Amino acid sequence: MVSKADTIVAIATPPGRGGLGIVRVSGPASLGLAAAISRRNLSLVPRQAHFCKIHDHEAAVIDEGLLIFFQGPASYTGEDVLEIHAHGSRIVLNQIVDHVLKAGGRLARPGEFTERAYLNNKIDLLQAEAVADLIDATSTHAARSAMRSLEGEFSGCINRLLEQIIHVRTFVEGALDFPDEEINFTSGYDIEKQLADISANLETIIAQARQGAILREGVSLAIVGRPNVGKSTLLNRLAGREAAIVTEIAGTTRDPVEQDLLIEDIPIRAIDTAGLRQTGNKIEQEGIRRTHNVMVGADIVVYVTACNEKTGNNDPWLQQYADKKIVLVTNKIDICGSGPSIQTFDEGIVNVSLSAKTGAGMDLLIEQLKTLLGVQEMFEDVIMARKRHLQSLEKTWQFIHAASCIAREKTETELMAEELRQAQEALGEITGRYAADDLLGSIFSSFCIGK
Ligand code: GDP
Repeated sequence: MVSKADTIVAIATPPGRGGLGIVRVSGPASLGLAAAISRRNLSLVPRQAHFCKIHDHEAAVIDEGLLIFFQGPASYTGEDVLEIHAHGSRIVLNQIVDHVLKAGGRLARPGEFTERAYLNNKIDLLQAEAVADLIDATSTHAARSAMRSLEGEFSGCINRLLEQIIHVRTFVEGALDFPDEEINFTSGYDIEKQLADISANLETIIAQARQGAILREGVSLAIVGRPNVGKSTLLNRLAGREAAIVTEIAGTTRDPVEQDLLIEDIPIRAIDTAGLRQTGNKIEQEGIRRTHNVMVGADIVVYVTACNEKTGNNDPWLQQYADKKIVLVTNKIDICGSGPSIQTFDEGIVNVSLSAKTGAGMDLLIEQLKTLLGVQEMFEDVIMARKRHLQSLEKTWQFIHAASCIAREKTETELMAEELRQAQEALGEITGRYAADDLLGSIFSSFCIGK
């Protein structure tokens, strides 16, 4: 256990008034502080609540509440921890913090309790990040998948993969270090197959992590099209409220209007843009210029036309963004008297016919958005991933891929060893678990080379 000399303190409950407020203390002074705050010689039983008067540093009673002592290492941080449960008054909680500071404690930095938990090996890096993700979760699915990471599900996947990689490295490094031993690629150990298994596992995790990144970080969706086709109405329909101004006058939306939505638990930043048309109006021209910027930055572009107007997927505005994920929407079907429908064009582009005004066909649009994002069965196996994790996973995949190519040619064992070493390092970055020295231990423990 990493022992820290200093004792840290922070208010653990959110700002504002409330029934209860909790101050958390971690460090060697925790037990002494319990006596100072209660001004009693409480024999605190770890993990049991003790009711007492709470005192400030000048011995005045400021509240009454509960003290709970967690004896390290059986605590969140791995150190001695004291929780002081008082009433949720900012004044009282600040006085308690002040008492701890006067007694030699210091204010905790953001995330420091969790950082200590990591340094004391209570959790790994992934779990530390999951704590933050759970707290920041914006949907039930996001919270559930953060919790699974916190329980070690993601770490378990990564650790199993690491073990697989180390296992292969053991053979390859052994072949390098002990060329006289009969270790070669044909002696009953199929390196190609092992590497193919690792690749397949990596691909599964990458797919799950991509979904997790969507769940965590969300996607941006630009709603574009000519003036008056119903873009603002569509945004309002998606948002379920009047976010953008709807009028019959063309060219009313000039600044992009942003709206954060949760569509079936996917956080989406929808942006309603100025209508695309040739115009002499300077302000509108600027709006159109901004629309192009929004389109360039968007993950998905929803291109709206109205069924009573003649445009379509040959619209020159649309052609410029052929590399984007695009959904075409033919709006106002209520005017044309047709029903909602979905149609796939030759190039794979999908058109959804709907009415933003009546809401008919909105479910088809949402299904299509989910398909474009690769979100089908709603996030059952999703791993709450961050960009950092995805980058490490993708890097690992590339090293394993390179190692596989070398294995296929059965040459350059040194190079393969190097690719595998880098794969392990890239993957190890995710949990922060493996240092390079671990490999040596693994080689010597699994090889019978003691002669
Ligand atoms: P924007 O300029 O593309 O943002 O278009 P708006 O959302 O401001 O809509 C322009 C006009 O079309 C308004 O009068 C809307 O009420 C109308 N509108 C929008 N969607 C529909 C629809 O699905 N059906 C009908 N009948 N009218 C619509």
